[in-house]
Amino acid sequence: MIRIDSVTKRYPDGTLAVDRLSLEIPDRSITVLVGPSGCGKTTTLRMINRMVEPTGGSILLDGVDIQDQPVNTLRRSMGYVIQNAGLFQHRTIVDNIATVPRLLGWGKQRARARAAELMERVGLDVSLAKRYPYQLSGGQQQRVGVARALAADPPVLLMDEPFSAVDPVVRKGLQDELLRLQEELGKTIVFVTHDIDEAVKIGTMVAVLRTGGRLAQYAPPAELLSAPADDFVEDFLGIDRGIRRLSFFASGGLELTKTPIIAADSTAEQIAARATPGVPYLLVTDAEGRPLGWSDPAALADGPLDVARLLPYGRPFEYGTDSLRAALDGAVLSPTGWAVAVDGNGRAVGVVSQQTIGEAIRSAHAEGRTAAETGTGTAAEAGADAGAEAGAEAGVAG
Ligand code: ADP
Repeated sequence: MIRIDSVTKRYPDGTLAVDRLSLEIPDRSITVLVGPSGCGKTTTLRMINRMVEPTGGSILLDGVDIQDQPVNTLRRSMGYVIQNAGLFQHRTIVDNIATVPRLLGWGKQRARARAAELMERVGLDVSLAKRYPYQLSGGQQQRVGVARALAADPPVLLMDEPFSAVDPVVRKGLQDELLRLQEELGKTIVFVTHDIDEAVKIGTMVAVLRTGGRLAQYAPPAELLSAPADDFVEDFLGIDRGIRRLSFFASGGLELTKTPIIAADSTAEQIAARATPGVPYLLVTDAEGRPLGWSDPAALADGPLDVARLLPYGRPFEYGTDSLRAALDGAVLSPTGWAVAVDGNGRAVGVVSQQTIGEAIRSAHAEGRTAAETGTGTAAEAGADAGAEAGAEAGVAG
């Protein structure tokens, strides 16, 4: 565990970047530092690997003050990933990734074999190994940056706005990839971003900082969204935090209705049997059970089915896997107001009305409130004063 204990950083020009910050960063999870530009996120991150030395307080790694460890040993235990990947432009991809193993004295063959293995891990085709960074897309370069940071298998990964320079689609892919990778590797990750959506998506714990490097709130994302500590945090979370919070509730508890689901080749009697009160529309599926669209029961009884005339079914949600947010979205997008639940193969397993989703949301909120009342609170901020400026700043990855 990394323990940040009342840490302060005042730069030589007098700027107070971080002010008596205390955080307990749990092992094998992703802790996100988020806040507006200039609130001290990068400074905090760099104090963890001693690229910036604090002017007050202390940082403990597994109970040992990082000041008591040789800086090289410390940095070897911490991979470091930055925006735009910070790759060595004159080195090939494989040599970029092999940088730290080579510094550690590994033979060339072994280091390259490790690099190839890591390329695969982070979703890069090994055919890119001999290219130079400028021959890769931004997203690919960022993956190389992650692979390089992981090369010597450090227990800690420090990531500073690693995905901020790529477009939203690539960025989402990189976030998903990081979450997948983390399930496999279980690193202790400290991740800096100014993007609250990114923080809420990937963080196990989220520390919201305000200007001057003061902690505003430290909590799991669901708690942040349900119980912002103050107006600053609430503003920073944005207007739709209620909807976003639904991402943390599973759709598995929703009560689905199966009666309105009908195969495209059904007979008039079968259709009549399904058109029950309270279900004004039928969901027509193909032979495999995949949704085709909604229909008025009367229109179906009229003659052969015309798929082109069915009402769109919005975006289905995967029952049990997707969240209540996805279910609500499906219902909102559906012209009938009913969302379609599918299984992992895209086959319709039921439909659910906006009203039923609304009831599930209300009970989820009630449960969430109970959890927030008994769960983790905000981290304590203890007092300590700025000491003398140490000021040693340096460093590349590894
Ligand atoms: P963030 O990562 O949240 O954008 P930083 O940690 O980079 O914030 O910066 C926090 C504050 O410290 C800002 O006001 C910034 O201008 C200032 N700062 C950062 N580095 C230095 C430095 N080397 N010298 C003086 N002030 C600095």
